[in-house]
Amino acid sequence: MPSMILRKGRDQRLKAGHPWVYAGEVERFRGEFQDGDVIDVKDHRERPLACAHVNRQSQIVGRVLSSHREPVDATDRQSVVSFLRDRIADALACRRRLGLDPDAGRIVYSEADFLPGLIVDRYGGWLVAQILTLGMDRWRGRIVEALRDLVQPEGIYERSDLSVREHEGLAATKGPLWGEMRGVPEVLLDGLRLRVDVVNGQKTGLFLDQRQNWGLAGRYADGARVLDAFCYTGGFALHAARGGAASVLGLDISEDAVALARSNAELNGLEGRCAFEAGNAFDRLRGLDAEGERFDLIVLDPPSFTRSRGAVEGAARGYKEINLRAFKILNPGGMLLTCSCSYHMSEEAFRGVVNEAAQDARRRVRLVEVRTQAPDHPVLPAARETQYLKCLVLQVV
Ligand code: SAH
Repeated sequence: MPSMILRKGRDQRLKAGHPWVYAGEVERFRGEFQDGDVIDVKDHRERPLACAHVNRQSQIVGRVLSSHREPVDATDRQSVVSFLRDRIADALACRRRLGLDPDAGRIVYSEADFLPGLIVDRYGGWLVAQILTLGMDRWRGRIVEALRDLVQPEGIYERSDLSVREHEGLAATKGPLWGEMRGVPEVLLDGLRLRVDVVNGQKTGLFLDQRQNWGLAGRYADGARVLDAFCYTGGFALHAARGGAASVLGLDISEDAVALARSNAELNGLEGRCAFEAGNAFDRLRGLDAEGERFDLIVLDPPSFTRSRGAVEGAARGYKEINLRAFKILNPGGMLLTCSCSYHMSEEAFRGVVNEAAQDARRRVRLVEVRTQAPDHPVLPAARETQYLKCLVLQVV
């Protein structure tokens, strides 16, 4: 079996449960193999630790699939299918154990479900896969077989149109892997009917990581005037409207997202209390203040302002600006539900920025709840990279 042998002392992170090997940690490679193969990972004394997908084109040269005690025989197609089936079955059992909705949600979350490089979301009869690594890319057919076996979906669609694949030497790609899609899939999610644009929407169609937090907007909405900035297809807005909001205004820069949000509102008979506008939320927040508009609940869920550590400062300015604007237009007693999905912006730093925004807006605030991504996006305690979403709920005095 070919292998990568780690430098002395570089096995600690792996032993603590972190599933990556960085290029600089490898002393040498041994044996014949191709990038994308499964090879052994050994410590500097050549004691086996794990088996991993290897890719020397990536900074992350090894992605651990299993411990050396349960090796994956990648030379045998059926062994790979049964490995994938076992892992996916385990991920499904986890969701059942958590009592999560079987109709919509993330059923495989990469490292945190011990399948690095594979994400699978479920929207009713449809599964949507994202394949992020060369090793998983080569297993595409086997992944489809395992998923069909276990879930018997109506269809499987791939949304690997992601720039991160470049780090693995892979081009962006998308398209059906199984079945034929007619129309836009619809799911029933927490009692709301939502049409999900699996083919052209963002991510795999919905921001499922916010699922539990959408419910919060419903809880704090009764009688409220609500602003959902960066609303996408209306996850927070529709929950707020259904939760008894007096009115909801959703803003997003994407015309397509806003159109789908509107049609979702109609689908649920909520169009009378919801309005959606396409435009830049930064400008609109300023405009709403100038027009003297005030709200009782504001949701801020912007895109990741930074994908790199270097750009955190610029991101902090962006977060500060929108949070400051939001604090200014909240009525006394109003709530702000403010999110950051940038991994590089730590929770501590984000809390700092939000607090600065409150000070600058001259508002006294209390933090009433700290939330993160939904439990079907679990976190590996050993790998902090798996936790990225911060959601703070504050009340202004
Ligand atoms: N809250 C949504 C997810 C939001 S993702 C949900 O729970 O479903 C971030 C959204 O911000 C995207 O839909 C993107 O189109 C939008 N966006 C990006 N830049 C923007 C800007 N400057 N103004 C308004 N919306 C913007």
